[in-house]
Amino acid sequence: MVIETWSPQETFALGQRMGREARPGQVICLNGDLGVGKTVFTQGFADGLGIGEPVNSPTFTILQQYEEGRLPLYHFDVYRIGDVSEMDEIGYEDCFYGDGVSLIEWPTKIREILPAQVTWVEIEKDLEKGFDYRRIRVEERA
Ligand code: ADP
Ligand code: MG
Repeated sequence: MVIETWSPQETFALGQRMGREARPGQVICLNGDLGVGKTVFTQGFADGLGIGEPVNSPTFTILQQYEEGRLPLYHFDVYRIGDVSEMDEIGYEDCFYGDGVSLIEWPTKIREILPAQVTWVEIEKDLEKGFDYRRIRVEERA
């Protein structure tokens, strides 16, 4: 599935829709360059799950956990991770293989520990189509 968005609101809305449809144990990988909209998508996703508190990408926290929605949300931003062993310390397995939903920004940095089955979301800019244009590909990988 490929979706084109022309504003942050549209990317938020896509996240929201996927948040409403999210299922227990789902792992969603959000791939794309800095500033492409991974956190905007995550904010929509959290809203779709019924999470009211603000969602950000805190600079020095790899995992943020939200319990107030329809399903627990585990938001990973692994941009600053040094080594995958840091994921063990966080207890990532309970998140990936539990009943909540995991959203991972910068998934390629922890490729070796990603589950076999993930939802892969790839966000790209195309400056020829404008500053706020994003091409978003969503695919199930098994
Ligand atoms: P990332 O988490 O990928 O580093 P952010 O979500 O933090 O990126 O930031 C994306 C930035 O791009 C925001 O400032 C947002 O307003 C802007 N933006 C412009 N157009 C779009 C779009 N179509 N979708 C998502 N974000 C957009
Ligand atoms: Mg981000």
